[in-house]
Amino acid sequence: MFSIVSSPTPTGYGMPSLTYLGREVIRLPFIRATSLGHEVLHNWWGNGVYPDWQSGNWSEGLTTFLADYAYKEDEGAEAAREMRMGWLRDYAAVPPGEDFALKDFTSRQHGIASIIGYNKAAMVFLMLRDRIGKEAFERGLRLLWERKQFQTASWTDLEAAFSEAAGQSQKEFFRQWVMQAGAPAPTGSDPDFRVWRRVDPKLFPPILREVFVAPQASVVVTDEVLNSSANTLAQRVLDARAALAERLPAKGPVLIFGLETTIDGWLATNGLPARQLTPRGTAQVWAGRDAKSRPYVVISARDANALAALQRGLPHYGKQSWLVFDGARAAEKGVWPPHAK
Ligand SMILES: [Zn+2]
Repeated sequence: MFSIVSSPTPTGYGMPSLTYLGREVIRLPFIRATSLGHEVLHNWWGNGVYPDWQSGNWSEGLTTFLADYAYKEDEGAEAAREMRMGWLRDYAAVPPGEDFALKDFTSRQHGIASIIGYNKAAMVFLMLRDRIGKEAFERGLRLLWERKQFQTASWTDLEAAFSEAAGQSQKEFFRQWVMQAGAPAPTGSDPDFRVWRRVDPKLFPPILREVFVAPQASVVVTDEVLNSSANTLAQRVLDARAALAERLPAKGPVLIFGLETTIDGWLATNGLPARQLTPRGTAQVWAGRDAKSRPYVVISARDANALAALQRGLPHYGKQSWLVFDGARAAEKGVWPPHAK
């Protein structure tokens, strides 16, 4: 028996035979195909076999691979490739100095932690399955479950189970992908995105996350009336704390807040590309890069209330290039086509 319990908070977590999800989250149409599967899988990985917090949390990556990614594989090769490309696109936004080894991931506290602990870990499980084959991979999972259910397991225990299942030591693989930070330097075009690597961010269309995870993003508010909502929203979406400025800094990633009626003039005066979304809804958000490749995000709102309405939703849309909001609801969203200006 398995229960799904609705909760008034917007979070989700699982316990053996129970998953607890925010009321609003349960209502979203995509939830059954994504987060619910993820929470169900945690009954095995996370709440059935426990991660060893001292030596790193492997359970988010394994759950992402066996639930979220498995749904995409069921949908088709193109959907799966899209997800892998999204992982690498997110990683391209992580400054090398902020990168860390998978073994040092414990829980998602900010954008970069989820890029490593969820995305990189899921890709590493995919690489392992590509390497030892599907049968050996599934045998490894069974071994791990049989040996470690209702006990703590470390990355080293996973290595042992998969090595035994493959009939060959996987020590070197785990050393490279779990114990060390980073990724191999880009070589070739790697069009299938099946290996964790650093891809030049300029090859991907700009997305909100490029600014959200930047360690030193600046925040500019062009209309004083937005100061308070902008300040709260900036703290919600940015990994690093940033003070509000009135002027555009000479360089570095920047998050810009403005009123729908004045933002266009401000962008022109400051030499930034013109608005890329026609004014519609109550707020529009878009990511871009200026002539010097500086990433920026513009949040254009009808008024302070329209801006305040984005608090809950916007942090979840870092993978997008643009959104149109109607109040708190993201009415439209998308990723710019490759090589768009
Ligand atoms: Zn999870």
